[in-house]
Amino acid sequence: MAERAILHLDLDTFFVSVERLKNARLCGRPVIVGGALERGVVASCSYEARRFGVYSGMALKLARRLCPEAVFIRGNMADYSYYSRLITSILEEEVPVLEKASIDEFYADLTGLDRYYGCWKWATRLRKRILRESGLPISLGLSTSKSVAKIATGEAKPNNQLYVQSGREKPFLAPLPVQKIPGVGPKTHRTLATMGIRHIHTLQQMPPSVLQTAFGKWGRLLWERANAIDPRPVTPHRQRKSLSAERTFPQDLFDLPSLLTALSALVEKLAYRLRQLGMYTGLIALKIRYADFRTFSQQTKVPYTAFDEEILPVATTLLHKLYTRRMGIRMLGIAFGDLIPQTCQLDFFDDRLRTTRLYQAVDALRNKYGPHILKKAASMPPTPLHQLPQHSKNPLPYVR
Ligand SMILES: [Mg+2]
Repeated sequence: MAERAILHLDLDTFFVSVERLKNARLCGRPVIVGGALERGVVASCSYEARRFGVYSGMALKLARRLCPEAVFIRGNMADYSYYSRLITSILEEEVPVLEKASIDEFYADLTGLDRYYGCWKWATRLRKRILRESGLPISLGLSTSKSVAKIATGEAKPNNQLYVQSGREKPFLAPLPVQKIPGVGPKTHRTLATMGIRHIHTLQQMPPSVLQTAFGKWGRLLWERANAIDPRPVTPHRQRKSLSAERTFPQDLFDLPSLLTALSALVEKLAYRLRQLGMYTGLIALKIRYADFRTFSQQTKVPYTAFDEEILPVATTLLHKLYTRRMGIRMLGIAFGDLIPQTCQLDFFDDRLRTTRLYQAVDALRNKYGPHILKKAASMPPTPLHQLPQHSKNPLPYVR
């Protein structure tokens, strides 16, 4: 295979940096973005806060004990989505093959570019442009594969860049601790520690079969990553499939309440699939087909989300806009586009946390018993009043 030039870019402490753009007084101070103190986790923290031992994913309560002088801020997905898209649009102008790996992380395949400019010089200029036009610090790594480029970015941070040239990948990785390999979480780290493996050079020297015995398929991958073997291609954004669901009704629907019920069921079904894939959507599209087969659709951008509560109102507004003719509807369809992987847990921010816990519980039941085990009340046909139980004040929006 011809040698590749893979660039990885990652915005530094992205949520904190966006908050600092909004409020310059936060610069130079320890800043922690998360939800409410009682239950939330750290979604992003500044380097000033990291010096106190705070890290992403830590309980906010503990973070406050470690760093009481930090400024705690509730996250705002709408702002982060705006800046994420700004960076995406700059990169799309510049980069021939771009993959958006998460809200603040990108891969680009620059193979072939060096004939004209030189990848490293080009990447340096690109990083400066992003900083100049967005005000957001970003780090990058350039190497011959995705995983080495990503690790290089990690080593370059904050607000810097690192080039690991062809042939230098293994010596670069060798002295690093094993948890620098993407995918090595606390569990793998612990198991490796019990095997006496702490640094990547140990992995490099082992026969892959030992790791395969201990970890199965993942063991083989681990050995490959340690040895800078990673043939994964950069997958352009537009090639990534969107998700869609549609329903043709047995009889044309005329009344809005029935349409809204059908819409709610479609949203519920598709948002569940979205969460199962571990993705966010940033684009919602709705399609209706009238009885005369004329079809209309509309779409709108939204802050990145995977929640029914945030998607359904948008879909409802689109339906109101689309349903303008005095004619029955035979088909309703919904699609999610601009899909990006969720890199953090769903419980980013606390106002989402309660719903997140509910979703996790509901999704777990669906995984176990099938997708139809639970349905939202709004997705069910209305129950005649006399059938409702006396005390039906169920606090959960789900019914069996
Ligand atoms: Mg980042």
